Amino acid sequence: MTASKPFAGKVAVVTGSTSGIGLGIARALAAEGANIVINGLGDVAAIEKERAGIETEFSVRCLYSPANMLSGEEIAGMVKLAVDELGSCDILVNNAGIQHVAPIDEFPDDKWQQIIQINLVAAFHSTKAALPSMKARGWGRIVNIGSAHALTASPYKSAYVAAKHGIAGMTKTVALETATAGITVNCICPGYVWTPLVERQIPDTMAARNMTREQVISDVMLQAQPTKKFVTIEEVAALAVFLCRNEAASITGSMMSIDGGWMAH
Ligand code: NAD
Repeated sequence: MTASKPFAGKVAVVTGSTSGIGLGIARALAAEGANIVINGLGDVAAIEKERAGIETEFSVRCLYSPANMLSGEEIAGMVKLAVDELGSCDILVNNAGIQHVAPIDEFPDDKWQQIIQINLVAAFHSTKAALPSMKARGWGRIVNIGSAHALTASPYKSAYVAAKHGIAGMTKTVALETATAGITVNCICPGYVWTPLVERQIPDTMAARNMTREQVISDVMLQAQPTKKFVTIEEVAALAVFLCRNEAASITGSMMSIDGGWMAH
């Protein structure tokens, strides 16, 4: 019975939702009745299985956009798909992201550019494309997935920290620009969440810090988090869902830490 669900009749675009946190958020929004556009890279058959699974499990419509976050044109096309095929773009979750770990004097130029493009510039293009639909309906929710690294730094992550601090600034600016339009814009700042992105950075961190895998997990990752636990995808998804509900209408321009106490240091 989608009619009684909070996001019935709403359309959510979630970038980078073929994996990890984005997939968790897409599924959580669908569970609350939103029609969904999923996006991201990966195996075509696996993505189709996920897309069809969301439709059957939650009785919503779910489309897949293959837009590459390196292309402003493709990002605009992703939002257009939502508006043309599903009727609007009410919720935008800017989640797609990549990481690379290396000292700045060894940081590959192309990796630096890609991280800034995918983790920051893509959110500019999607926000710009989505706002007209939100303004037309007088209601909108933009949830940017920042990071604890939107608020603090760690060595060897210069591009990522720069991009995430950038999205924090953009969140506040767009929140001010849309404050009277029924639109909220917030930035979720997770600590370490166990996803493929975290798994992939372990070998580079082992090399950069001359550590074993176990040392990276305990002395770098969980060292920062007083709870000594990874944040879960479900916890981040639940926060994103809350920020999209009507009860969160007064929360805008906020940095929402969900990091096991990291920022309390
Ligand atoms: P993930 O690797 O599991 O998922 C990343 C998603 O982005 C995938 O769907 C991937 O296909 C997509 N993507 C990557 N490059 C893309 C491109 N060029 N075009 C389109 N899609 C692209 O990672 P995750 O851990 O779920 O990360 C999701 C977000 O959460 C990122 O913004 C990340 O910075 C942020 N984050 C993650 C953690 C963590 O510990 N995992 C902590 C804080 C913030």
